[in-house]
Order: sequence, then C-alpha cells, then structure tokens
Amino acid sequence: MAQRLLNYINGTWQTSGATDVLKVLNPASAVELAEVPLTPVPEVDQAVQAALRTFPDWRRTPAGKRIQPLFKLKALLEQNLDLLARAITDECGKTIAEAQGEMQRAIENVEVACGIPVLMQGRNNEDIAPGIDEHLIRQPLGVVAAITPFNFPGMIPFWFLPYAVATGNCFILKPSERVPMTSGKVFELIESAGFPAGVVQLVHGGRDTVNTLLDHPGIRAISFVGSTATARYVYSRASAAGKRAQCQGGAKNPVVIMPDADMEMTPRILADSAFGCAGQRCLAASVAILVGDARRSFIDPMVAMARHRKVGYGLDAGVEMGPVISSESKSRIETLIGKGIREGATVLADGRGSSVPGYENGFFVFPTILDGVPPRGDIARTEIFGPVLSLMRAATLDEAITLVNERSYGNMACIFTRDGAHARRFRYEVNAGNVGINVGVAAPMAHYPFSGWGDSFFGDLHAQAEHGVEFYTQTKIIVERWPSDWSRRF
Ligand code: NAD
Repeated sequence: MAQRLLNYINGTWQTSGATDVLKVLNPASAVELAEVPLTPVPEVDQAVQAALRTFPDWRRTPAGKRIQPLFKLKALLEQNLDLLARAITDECGKTIAEAQGEMQRAIENVEVACGIPVLMQGRNNEDIAPGIDEHLIRQPLGVVAAITPFNFPGMIPFWFLPYAVATGNCFILKPSERVPMTSGKVFELIESAGFPAGVVQLVHGGRDTVNTLLDHPGIRAISFVGSTATARYVYSRASAAGKRAQCQGGAKNPVVIMPDADMEMTPRILADSAFGCAGQRCLAASVAILVGDARRSFIDPMVAMARHRKVGYGLDAGVEMGPVISSESKSRIETLIGKGIREGATVLADGRGSSVPGYENGFFVFPTILDGVPPRGDIARTEIFGPVLSLMRAATLDEAITLVNERSYGNMACIFTRDGAHARRFRYEVNAGNVGINVGVAAPMAHYPFSGWGDSFFGDLHAQAEHGVEFYTQTKIIVERWPSDWSRRF
C-alpha cells in the first residue's frame, strides 16, 4: 500500500484521520507514489490554534534571532538540493535540471528574507510638529497561510514562507494535492532548522481544506498561486472573511518577434520558454507574434527545435522535456490543439498521441506548434498550460502591441529585437507585470516582486522581496510628545 503523507502540526508529524485521500502519481509512469490526505476541519483548526499560541512569543523574538533558522534552512536546502530536485521530478515530471533550477530560486528567497532586520525597518521624523516626533513601524499580522499550485512544488512555497516567518508571523502551507511530497521533504529540513513548534506548519488537502483556511477567523492573510478561476474565488472568499489576500493566477504570455531579431538566438530561447517544464510555467511563452517578415527566418528553426526536443522521464540522461501533470491535463491539451486546428490554425509540429518507449503509461504531450492562430479565437486566449506555441502575424509593432494589450491576462510579455527604440516602446506600452527584452522567461529574481497584472493577479502586494515584507506586516504610526517641562500647557 502507498505511504500516507503526514501533516506537520505544532512541531510533530501527524497522521491525518482523513477518510478522503487522493493518489499521487509519477506523471512519467503513472506509478502511484503516495496517498495524500484531504485534511478535515478539526485538524486544520489544530494547526491554526498551535500557530495562534506560538505567535506572541515568535513576534517578540528579535528579528536577528528569527532569521537564524532561515540561515540553517538555506544550508540544509543546499546540502539536500539533489534529493529535493529528484522528488520534484518524480511527482511533477519536469527534468532534473529544471528541478534543480527551481530549488535554487527557492534558496534565493531564503537569502533575501535573511535581510529582514533591515527590510522591515520603519522610518521616522523628529519634530514633525514642534516638539512632536512621528514614527512608522512594521508589525507582523499573526497567523498566515499559503496555498500553492502543482507546477513549482519546491519554489513557490518559498515565495512566501521565508518572508512570513522572518517578519514574525506563524505560517501554514497547504501545497498542491497533486505534488505534496516535495513539501514533505522540505518540512523534514524545516524540522531540523530550529523553528519553535507552531511557527511553520504543513497541512495537506484539496479544495475543502482551502475553504477551511479561507474561512478560519484565526488566519489574517492568504497567499495563493494557481489558475485564474481559483485565484479569483480565493481572493473574494478570503477578502469577504476580512483577510488580506494576494492571489496569483494563470497566464497566456505573448512574445513579439521583430524582423531584426537575432534568428539564431530567438528560436532557441523561445523553445526553452514554450516547451521548458512541458509548457507548465506561468511565464511560458505561449503565443509568438511574428512582425513583418520575421516569420521567414523564424519558422523553420523553431519547428526544428520542437521536433528535436528530447522528451522522456526527467531523471533519464539527455531528456529535455518531461510529461504534463496528469492524464486529464494531457487530454485537455490535446483537445485544445484540435480546437485550434478547427479554428483555422495549421499544425507545424503535432505533439498529440505520442508516447515514450518504456513509459507508455506516462502523460506525455510532445512539443506542438500551431501556425495562423486567429488572434481573437478561443485558442489565442485560453491558457493551454502545455507545450504548445501558437503563431500569429502582425504587420507592425503597433499592431503587435495592440494584440498583446487585448488579452485579459498580464503575467508576462516579451519582445525580441535589436532595436532599442522598439524595445523601449514595448516596455513602456505593454500591459504586463513582467516584461522580457530578448529574454524568454522574465522571471523576477527574489530581490524583486513577481508583478503579474490583469487576470493574472488579484490583490495589491505581490510575492517576494519588499512586497512580501509589506504584505506580511501592518504599519503602525506613533505620534509622540515628550515635554521636558510637564507644567507647560499645550
Ligand atoms: P489550481 O488552481 O488547480 O490549484 C492551485 C491550488 O488551489 C491547489 O493547492 C488546489 O488545492 C487549490 N484549489 C484548486 N481548486 C480549488 C477550488 N475550487 N477551491 C479551493 N481551492 C482550490 O492550479 P494548478 O493547476 O495547481 O496550477 C496551475 C495554474 O497555476 C496555472 O493556471 C498557472 O498559470 C498558475 N500559476 C501561476 C503563477 C503566477 O505566478 N501567476 C505561478 C505558477 C502557476
């Protein structure tokens, strides 16, 4: 029988009494790896109560002391990077190199949060009025929770966890029920990093567990990453319950390719962006808008990149792209490719119906390129979240920018050009929170917020860096007067 994954509550590993469980599968082989409990309300409440009890002491712990477990965690993550990366590959499907890169990004967020004694400093003015001083200080919120998606099981929890605890909050993670094992391994390291019991907790589950967190009066803030439909729902339910919420949603990222782009570099970078992580990145290029005669030199090398990408099990040597997350995902993607063809697109590389020798049960979709996708059709607007690149045409940069700005999503937009004026105009005018110039995945490093716009984000303050610090703290203003002569009348 597959192992049942444990929750980590109040500093101990606990077997959930959940009667509902889900299977965790290796998407390359469909082999069952574990079963994940859908944690019921009383056990979620136990985690929240433990956090509430711990919070008063944790917030009083000096910031310089609160970051010591994070320094230790950074070292543990580095020492165990390969083990964690293998866990990611096994349950999520991406290649081992992609999984290692993901863990590196997680570690960078721990590094940034270790700067909290400086990052959460306030400010003040002496004599803001005669004899009166004014101060702004930042205080933690209390108990906060994060709900994360399947596609970056190692990295995304770290967009939140380090900032939340460093600023003095107690933190509960509800990872994706499709990839819960990486979090289990991370929490084994958290257990030895020296956090007091109740500061960081792990609760497995699905939508009911999420609802319990959203409604729980003990939780002050919710961080969420996932699809737009769920992000919108989580944002409204959490806000209605009076919580702060930051909810990152889905994407459909356009890339504009100008005729003067470097056509040796551009297809190579685009292939990594569109097909890396099997297209299951919220910053994957999914639409390439070819301006003028860019298509003449772009299409052949791009199609060659798609056809030659080595697809397989991410731990096998030389594999460049793994499976998608589930059989449902595979059939959804294949259905959408068919829909694109029915809408009038021509398929230049067709990844449907393919399998990998030795992994015939795996959920593989090979790289796919659709040409002549109608810009206002469904496929141009639907997030496919698989290794599918749609090509469109535009006569001018103006027209391309219009196409970019017609979308409801605003996670990322990129341009490939050698012309600085074109690049500057693009950067200035596009409605997207993350912009790439001759870059295929404009992922903000941990020192910057992850700035999705439009339907890609609900909230004000984003994940990472100073936005994370602001999100997890509330400002308090102190206006004070200390007369040297109390007998004076005011
Ligand atoms: P998802 O929305 O299905 O699930 C995300 C989380 O929400 C999971 O923990 C899941 O348990 C929970 N959930 C799912 N349905 C729910 C419901 N009805 N009620 C309450 N909770 C629910 O997303 P996913 O498939 O795991 O992840 C892929 C999506 O995430 C894609 O759309 C991708 O673009 C997006 N994503 C966005 C970013 C970003 O930074 N904007 C980053 C990574 C992934």
